[in-house]
Amino acid sequence: IQKIKKEGGGSIAILSQSDHYKLSRRIQIEKRLLLALDHNDLHVMYLPQVDVATGKVIAVEALVRWEDEVLGTVSPDELIPIAEETGLINEIGTFVLEKACEQAAIWQRKEIPVKVSYNSSIREFRDKNMVKTIRKVLEKYNCSPSLLQIEFTEKFAIEAEGEQSIIGQMRKLQQDGVTFTLDDFGTGYASLHYLQLLPIDEMKIDSSFISSITGLEKQKKLVQGLIHLGHSLGVRVVAEGVEHESQYLLLKEFGCDALQGYYISPPISAEEVEKLF
Ligand code: C2E
Ligand code: CA
Ligand code: CA
Ligand code: CA
Repeated sequence: IQKIKKEGGGSIAILSQSDHYKLSRRIQIEKRLLLALDHNDLHVMYLPQVDVATGKVIAVEALVRWEDEVLGTVSPDELIPIAEETGLINEIGTFVLEKACEQAAIWQRKEIPVKVSYNSSIREFRDKNMVKTIRKVLEKYNCSPSLLQIEFTEKFAIEAEGEQSIIGQMRKLQQDGVTFTLDDFGTGYASLHYLQLLPIDEMKIDSSFISSITGLEKQKKLVQGLIHLGHSLGVRVVAEGVEHESQYLLLKEFGCDALQGYYISPPISAEEVEKLF
């Protein structure tokens, strides 16, 4: 946006062509998203996670997917920030949560031993009924709480620190058996202090650390340090964005508990997940 000085002294804003494009796409996304939610047009893909020691798939991460007739594919990186600003993230969250629990329960009945994680946004936890909502969804699908994993980012962690009720809600769910993962670890400002404060079962090291792990000695040390840190706090450590065997081998050597990434599999459908067992 460029500001132009008006004769009278004030300024008016005019949009550059690319700003104009961004703004109109954004408005379109908001409009179409409402429709998509109404028509159940979103769907979910699952990113497998394997246990480093056994090489077996132990969990999948539910990731929202949206292919719109008009807009084409809208990636989560574009969709989620807009949904967070408009508040529609709550609806997306409920949709993904329902899918995750429904699917986890189906796999439980088929004796496929896999947990399902879902990405939550702080807005969802500001809702005082969050615990009730999650319990209701678990009951609706007859899904055992221990099959549900909730991921949240450091940004969430930092805001949550000042909001005791959020931590309280997490604790209640944790007592039910639900587990929590600190996602994209290392990218924000979470300090040891947060790690201690929040009820975390697992830490996910961000892919940006993993992509450089086979480079400089310093970078190796950094990842090794993050893994040690997690273990000293008694949490499981997962690496994300593992694309090459060399990265996998190093992570194994460093004692990382689990990993996910294209080296294992891209996000796949529920049917494809079943074929892995
Ligand atoms: P994330 O939580 O870090 O999710 C993992 C992302 O990394 C996914 O992208 C996945 O497709 C991608 N990925 C997996 N393995 C690899 C790899 O080896 N290399 C590379 N380069 N990428 C890999 P996706 O699905 O585009 O999601 C992007 C982000 O959007 C997610 O990052 C997550 O923060 C957010 N997101 C996705 N679904 C939801 C949702 O249902 N709710 C909320 N609140 N956020 C979501
Ligand atoms: Ca995640
Ligand atoms: Ca990440
Ligand atoms: Ca992540």
